[in-house]
Amino acid sequence: MRIDLHTHSRASDGTDTPTGLVRAAVDAGLDVVAITDHDTADGWAEAGAAAVELGIELVPGMEISTIHRGRSVHLLAYLPDPTYPPLAGELARVLTGRGSRVPAMLEQLHRHGIEITEDDVRRASDGTAAPGRPHIADALVTLGVVADRTEAFNDYLGAGKVAYVDRYAAPLEATIRHVTDAGGVAVIAHPWGRGGLGRPDEATLAALHEIGLAGIEVDHQDHDPPTRERLRAIARNLGLVATGSSDYHGVGKTDHELGCNTTAPEEYARLMELARAAAAGSDRVTPGVVGG
Ligand code: AMP
Ligand code: ZN
Ligand code: FE
Ligand code: FE
Repeated sequence: MRIDLHTHSRASDGTDTPTGLVRAAVDAGLDVVAITDHDTADGWAEAGAAAVELGIELVPGMEISTIHRGRSVHLLAYLPDPTYPPLAGELARVLTGRGSRVPAMLEQLHRHGIEITEDDVRRASDGTAAPGRPHIADALVTLGVVADRTEAFNDYLGAGKVAYVDRYAAPLEATIRHVTDAGGVAVIAHPWGRGGLGRPDEATLAALHEIGLAGIEVDHQDHDPPTRERLRAIARNLGLVATGSSDYHGVGKTDHELGCNTTAPEEYARLMELARAAAAGSDRVTPGVVGG
C-alpha cells in the first residue's frame, strides 16, 4: 500500500488539473492519494470522479493557512464538511486575504520597475479561488522576469523579499476545533519545515492534541533525517498519528514527486478511524473517501 496524503492541483497552486493529479497518482503507483489544495475544496468533485474512474482511493482534504503565536502553520484537514459555517467562514476570510494581497504585491513589484498586471496573474492562476505567490511567480516567468518559481521567490516573493506582503491566516486552535466539529481530522503539515525548526515544541503539540489535533506530518521533504526521527518520537510519545507525504505541486515545485514520502498503512488506518469518530460525533454530512 502506497499512501500519499498531501498534494496540490490547479484548484490552488499545483500545476495539474484535479483529474491530471489523480492520473499522475495512479502512474506513480499510489493506492491512496489525498488532494489538499490550499484553503479550498474546489478540486474535490473533479478529483473524486477521476478516482472512481481510474480505481484509486481519494481522500478529500485541504491545507489551511493558519497562525499560532505569530508563526505560520499549515494545517491539513481531511474529510471535513467544508460548508460547516465556522470552517467556511475562516476559509472565506483566508481567500479574501489571498485576493487582496495580489494587487498589494504587484504594487511592490511596480515600485521595483516590474510591469505586471492583475490580468497577468489571473492568466497564471486560471480561476483558482486561492491565488498565491506561485501564481505571481508564474506570471513573472511568462513575462521573462525570472526563469522559474524558485528564482521568483528568491528574488522577489519570499518572506522578507521586496515584494512580500503578509495576508490573513486563521487562528490555529480554533481551526483545529472547527475541522473536528465539521467531522474531519486535523494534521499539522511540515511542522518543523522552513525555519520553524523545533517549533511547535512537544509541549505545544501535546496541548494541541488535547483540543483535537489528530497527527503531524513527519516525513516531508522540508525535514532532514534527524528532524524526522525527533518528530516521529514525539508522535509516538503523544499518541499522534505520524504521516508522510510528497506535498506534490506538479511541475511547480521540484523534489516533491508523488510518493517521495508515504504514510504507513497502520497510521492511515488510525487516521481514518479518528475521522470516522469525528464524523459520528458531528451533525455534519462529511464527504467520505471515494474510489479505490
Ligand atoms: P502563498 O500561499 O501565497 O503564501 O505561497 C506559499 C506557497 O508557495 C506554498 O504552497 C509553497 O509551496 C510555495 N512556495 C514557497 N516557496 C517556494 C519556492 N521557492 N518555489 C516554489 N514554490 C514555493
Ligand atoms: Zn502550495
Ligand atoms: Fe504547506
Ligand atoms: Fe502543501
